[in-house]
Amino acid sequence: MAEQKILTYLPVLPSGELMGSAAELLGAAAQLGTPVGVIVTTPGVSQAAAESAGELGAATVYVAEHEAVGTTLTEPTVNVFTTAWESVSPEAVLVPNDIDGRDLAARLSVRTHSAIAADVVGVHRDEEGIVAHHSVYGSTFTTESATTHGTLIVTLREGAVDHRGQAVTPEIHRVELGELSPHAASITEFSASAEASTRPDLRGAPTVVSGGRGLGSAEGFALAEQLADALGAGLGASRAAVDAGYAPHSLQVGQTGVTVAPDLYIALGISGAVQHLAGMQTAKTVVAINKDPEAPIFDIADMGIVGDVFEVVPQLIETLKGQ
Ligand code: FAD
Repeated sequence: MAEQKILTYLPVLPSGELMGSAAELLGAAAQLGTPVGVIVTTPGVSQAAAESAGELGAATVYVAEHEAVGTTLTEPTVNVFTTAWESVSPEAVLVPNDIDGRDLAARLSVRTHSAIAADVVGVHRDEEGIVAHHSVYGSTFTTESATTHGTLIVTLREGAVDHRGQAVTPEIHRVELGELSPHAASITEFSASAEASTRPDLRGAPTVVSGGRGLGSAEGFALAEQLADALGAGLGASRAAVDAGYAPHSLQVGQTGVTVAPDLYIALGISGAVQHLAGMQTAKTVVAINKDPEAPIFDIADMGIVGDVFEVVPQLIETLKGQ
């Protein structure tokens, strides 16, 4: 059988550092075939990013630099991706299941008439080809999907794949981007709704602390922030906490919020409604603190503390600080 190439989109920070999802995308690609990376940066940082991709298992990396990266929407990336696609004829394409990744997947799907498997939590190969795993109905079931023909485009949920690729010295191909189309959508104004935070991003954080209505007020929600900071964790919230104004919507975990799959998820004063579970039930370990022993969150928790968050959490923070 010919060597099967798996094309991955590796997002890069303005500093040239690969984003956290790169290790998982290349790890998942290594489970299926030979990982190939695509990197699109502003000028000057692509070489370091390509070398980092090699350390994570990318055998080949297609890199392009362009001034407009960061100030236009996905067009530069789609162009480079299309060049790499034509060159390697990938069996599958893996992109992160974030806003940029989903945008890229949709545009590639239209350009190449390929199928998309969205919000995938794992992949494997069987005798017919590549199979994508989905966690559905609030993580009650796992389903599988595959394409009947052509390349499968996968948007991979962050934190869902543990496998990692082996370091190699990558073959680096430079792609000239040239002029962008006059119709390329550019970003003319940008304002961040959330305050700048030093906490890890909720989607990719290995540990997430989420607060619910049980925290009682925006002031009470500070307890979740303090525990998150003591653990170096990302911060999340239930919808009830968001609706009550304790936390911004960007922190909402669940069916109508962000989906996370961290190593450790700590739920403070969250009842465990099915819509909340839909966003966190694939976490590897769930710890719940709730004063109601009948709260449904305990049904899926690996470890539970029945108690008042305002008594338990300060003790937890003190213990962590003492370590
Ligand atoms: P509650 O259900 O009110 O639970 C609060 C918990 O805190 C209780 O279990 C209580 O025992 C406990 N508690 C109270 N005080 C303390 C204390 N001092 N110490 C310890 N424990 C305490 N929800 C989401 O989270 N995410 C979503 O994306 C989402 N999408 C939705 C989409 C739809 C279409 C619908 C209909 C609903 C959606 N919801 C979503 C809402 C969901 O149904 C629940 O209403 C919500 O998750 C409840 O949030 P909560 O657990 O914080 O609040």
